[in-house]
Amino acid sequence: MSINSKTSKNSMRLENILIIGNGGRENSLAWAIQKNELVKKVYLIPGNAGTERINKCERIKIDINNKNELVKKLYFLNIDLIVIGPEIPLANGIADFLRQNEFKVFGPGKDGAKLEYSKSWAKEFMRDANIPTANFWKVNSLEEAKKIIYSSSMPLVVKADGLASGKGVFIPDSKEECFSAAESILNGKFGKSGNVVVLEEKIQGPEVSVFALCDGKKYILLPTAQDHKRLREKDKGPNTGGMGAYSPAPLLTEDYLDKIIKDIIEPTINELNKKNIDYKGVIYFGLMITKNGPKVIEYNCRFGDPECQTIMPLLDQNFVLLLEKCSMGKLNGIEKINISDKVSGCVIASSRGYPQEYKTGLPIEIGKIDSYDCQIFDSGTSFNKNGELVTSGGRVLSIVCQDKDFDLVFEKVYKNLKEIKFDGIYFRNDIGHQVRKNISKEN
Ligand code: AMP
Repeated sequence: MSINSKTSKNSMRLENILIIGNGGRENSLAWAIQKNELVKKVYLIPGNAGTERINKCERIKIDINNKNELVKKLYFLNIDLIVIGPEIPLANGIADFLRQNEFKVFGPGKDGAKLEYSKSWAKEFMRDANIPTANFWKVNSLEEAKKIIYSSSMPLVVKADGLASGKGVFIPDSKEECFSAAESILNGKFGKSGNVVVLEEKIQGPEVSVFALCDGKKYILLPTAQDHKRLREKDKGPNTGGMGAYSPAPLLTEDYLDKIIKDIIEPTINELNKKNIDYKGVIYFGLMITKNGPKVIEYNCRFGDPECQTIMPLLDQNFVLLLEKCSMGKLNGIEKINISDKVSGCVIASSRGYPQEYKTGLPIEIGKIDSYDCQIFDSGTSFNKNGELVTSGGRVLSIVCQDKDFDLVFEKVYKNLKEIKFDGIYFRNDIGHQVRKNISKEN
């Protein structure tokens, strides 16, 4: 197939952008990208019902696994830049395939995505580069698991090696629970993703998220964030994809961030280079701030959700230019990302029953929402056959606001949440409790 010169990977044109994914993360990326006046159209494959409320956005129905059709369509649409949201297509090598077809792509190839899709590989990577992380053991059999669990003097965390939709990590309270978690993984609870189990020393401390946009050699940091993974207030209950977040994370002072850059971020990028991995995309560093310093809990090869929805409103319209520079390997190392001096917070409105069973297809009513410094990004919504907005996922809407302090931010978020109605709506009332003054610590 001939390549339209306008779509070649060296073109500086930035009219037509494609985002792959269907969540709140992708809607917030689309919203941030369309702000730039060079951008005429943002296509999402597949997007969701909320995509249609965002300026310049259009959904495309096409199966990304049907590669010939996909490429034909993208040439036809003259796509100038492709941004890939979720980890599964990245792990399946979609970025490599699109680059081979001369598209500019923001998202790592299969080799870089391994930082996320193999926890044991990521741990070995960190060991090779001397990057601080919890001690670990990689095991392939129940016998090995038993030996390590019952001889270890420290509490352990059990992880399926591969992708498990955020459900592959167990934090047991006893050796028996630890062994039974390892057993269930090795016996196929997560299919092939559990052929290998990682046993990890359990470490302690608050968690923060740091995001680096990388062009293969250089990087630029986005504002830091903290999210709330647990379903219930006081950070209790099962782990979820994330119930809310805030940015920036005041816990990370400038000095501490410098330490993270020196001990973790730069060694990660250097090690990628050493391993000949040309990483063009975002690296998410999930960190724990322990009493012995920052340690990496996990890498992701994509933006976190809901951190992405929280951070995007803090960036100006140059964001898409940075994504493009990364995709071309052309960060010059002196760019400064323009970051608002406001702070941002996000609360997820979810379906009752999530992260287990929940109903879908429930009508959603959105009342009068503040229009200034407030956004609603749909996470799991669709239209029913009557064209009504309905729930279609466990996490339904991301309600995001910005203001000059976190108290004002969350006051607005919770006020807006009162305007949102669907049967079984559930959200935490204590998102951002660490940074809010006007919240009862009993909450
Ligand atoms: P992950 O999917 O690897 O980010 O793990 C999910 C959650 O499990 C993290 O956000 C932590 O709260 C917790 N976790 C993971 N690894 C450890 C560890 N080594 N020690 C303590 N908690 C952990």
